[in-house]
Amino acid sequence: MEISVNHDSIESIQEALSAWFATDKRALPWRKPPHRGDAYAVLVSEVMLQQTRVETVVPYFEAWMERWPTVEALAAATEDDVLDAWQGLGFYQRARRLHEAAKRIVEDHGGQVPSSKEELEALPGVGAYTSAAVRSFAFGDAVPAVDGNTARVWARMVGERVDISKARVKREAARSLAPLVEGEGGHLVEALIELGAMVCTPRDPSCSECPLVEACQAYKEGRCQEIPVPRSTGTIPEIEVVALLVKDPSGRVLLRRRPRGGLLGGLWGLPMVEREDAEPLDAAADRCIPGFEVEVEEGALGSVEHVFSHKRWRVQVHRARAVDGAFAVGSKEEGWAWCAWSKREGFASSALDGKVFDAVGEASLTLEA
Ligand code: SF4
Repeated sequence: MEISVNHDSIESIQEALSAWFATDKRALPWRKPPHRGDAYAVLVSEVMLQQTRVETVVPYFEAWMERWPTVEALAAATEDDVLDAWQGLGFYQRARRLHEAAKRIVEDHGGQVPSSKEELEALPGVGAYTSAAVRSFAFGDAVPAVDGNTARVWARMVGERVDISKARVKREAARSLAPLVEGEGGHLVEALIELGAMVCTPRDPSCSECPLVEACQAYKEGRCQEIPVPRSTGTIPEIEVVALLVKDPSGRVLLRRRPRGGLLGGLWGLPMVEREDAEPLDAAADRCIPGFEVEVEEGALGSVEHVFSHKRWRVQVHRARAVDGAFAVGSKEEGWAWCAWSKREGFASSALDGKVFDAVGEASLTLEA
């Protein structure tokens, strides 16, 4: 699938796209000094932008770069601090991998973000897209970095009804777009991403404002709305989750840190487990706090739904006590903590945990231990 223009047309497209980007691009912090062209800043912004909206990322990026302005500073940070700073961005595995990548850059590359595809993609959390973005935006390599925005622009330009969520389609887009961006120092790569975000939007693209309109097959055929085809989605399983609200005599709430490497690993929340098929509530509650027998109230204090990429959780929060008096759980280092309700924000937690805290907030303050 090729863009249906000849070489002269490619030059005129490049000029039009370049002129549009120069005047219409958003003034995002990673596009301005001192961050523009800084490979570490590009890496941070691109990792944050994976699966998160630009407007959400901007304040996180600014705070992050102020706190850890260099790759060495990030490498020296503690994981708790990194997760804490990431709180609210979701997909926490990205934060851990970015932290790990910073350590590797310091240890293996003398603190310089590498510029080759092979070395970049050997870093934790850096795939084909992020590697192409770093090479294009920091090292001027002009490698098509094909995210969903660029893939949509390309699919419409070539007039193909493809599913742009597929890796095969993105690879084809990268191959096809290479002649358009090569030799242009990387800014056209960024321009295509921006065009997809601002003009060639999923619904109602603003074709009258588009610098690519004369080369766009979908526009010529009046099929912009049909392309790309919707992502084929399977149904994701819904899983019931039991969470426990446990208080000690002074009113503190029991929190548990999830094991590293698992879902939401390293983050704090109420003790919770996925309930197995037909598993009695008290059996699931016992698994929430291993080694103790739990007395759990049947009626839920609150309920929260949370959708991950591969499953949907329906979390039911129940009040619980230890049958034998008190839960003598382990230390904070072992992943357990008694926390005053007003201090819970001092524990790095996920958006899901925030929703759970909100759902039981009032109840937790008024109930006795
Ligand atoms: S002309 Fe319309 S559909 Fe084609 S690339 Fe531009 S905005 Fe997208």
